[in-house]
Amino acid sequence: MAMSEFDIIRRNFAGRGVDRGDVVLGIGDDGAVVRVPSNCDLVTVVDTLVAGVHFPHETRPEDVGHKALAVNLSDVAAMGAVPAWATLALTLPHADEAWLSAFARGFFGLAQQYEVQLIGGDTTHGPLTVTVQIQGWVRTGQAVRRSGARPGDIIYVTGSVGDAGLALRAWQQQQDLTAVDGEYLFSRLHRPIPRCKEGEVLSDVVTAMVDVSDGLAADLGHILDASGVGATLNLESIPLSPSFFAVTGSGEYYLNEAERLRLALSAGDDYELCFTAPTVEGRRVEKLFSDFSCGCHAIGIIEAAQGLRLRQADGTLLSLEHSGYEHFSQEPDA
Ligand code: ADP
Ligand code: MG
Repeated sequence: MAMSEFDIIRRNFAGRGVDRGDVVLGIGDDGAVVRVPSNCDLVTVVDTLVAGVHFPHETRPEDVGHKALAVNLSDVAAMGAVPAWATLALTLPHADEAWLSAFARGFFGLAQQYEVQLIGGDTTHGPLTVTVQIQGWVRTGQAVRRSGARPGDIIYVTGSVGDAGLALRAWQQQQDLTAVDGEYLFSRLHRPIPRCKEGEVLSDVVTAMVDVSDGLAADLGHILDASGVGATLNLESIPLSPSFFAVTGSGEYYLNEAERLRLALSAGDDYELCFTAPTVEGRRVEKLFSDFSCGCHAIGIIEAAQGLRLRQADGTLLSLEHSGYEHFSQEPDA
């Protein structure tokens, strides 16, 4: 029997996941009511995932649920904020019970981990689209912006970049990757781990921060624009994972060094944090990251001269204009 909108909500979303003490009124009324801690500012982020645009149509529903929340948690992290409450606007082509329960499993699995409570949403009929909004908080005046980078600051990035971009290209070409590397790379694409704790502790140290969703070069570019500065990246310091190296080192996906770097710098979906901090804080940044398994890497320096310079190990500059990964490009130019 077909499920109504209310059946969908009741079976899959109401009364599930963490039960936070600061939620006065959750799912079920016209609006939710929450209590923001005193001495805090409220931070709000929202992101929409459209099937066929932000994720392939055949993506597993649990991965869609995970990722829809993860990309928002990543934005919260980049503000240096603590996530607390989420709303979910779900547009569904059909009320498919199996799909919904798997989606909810992916969503609540991650929500539980980050102690985020789903407090409301909207359920509509149409092409598969998932919008999540998260609210969280920072101490008054402490939200981290993109605009604070100053010449001399060190540029850092967490984890590694390019993994999800490489996985997406393999997926689009329906290519097999070896079991070990494939599992890692596809999990980077479908189940990103938002750097929330990292963002929260960094909020005291950093001058600017952004999450890497559209490619490191583009997202660092947002910091440079907002701060009115430029930068040089040392390309030998860009963190690439062992699986990224293994897959691009030979065979089907062989890339030379310049092509590897272009992919790592321009492919999206990394969901790492890129941030800047004064040189004197270098030790503190290292120390903070001794607690985090993702690690963090100094990759360059902020300069007064505008623009982004990509310095290779031999001192020459790499250009990003001509994307070097023809091996993969079967898509029309975006
Ligand atoms: P209204 O018509 O007043 O906007 P709805 O009938 O759309 O309310 O929703 C009923 C309740 O269920 C509301 O509290 C709403 O926030 C919640 N809700 C609707 N869809 C979802 C969803 N996909 N996830 C979580 N809560 C939802
Ligand atoms: Mg209403």
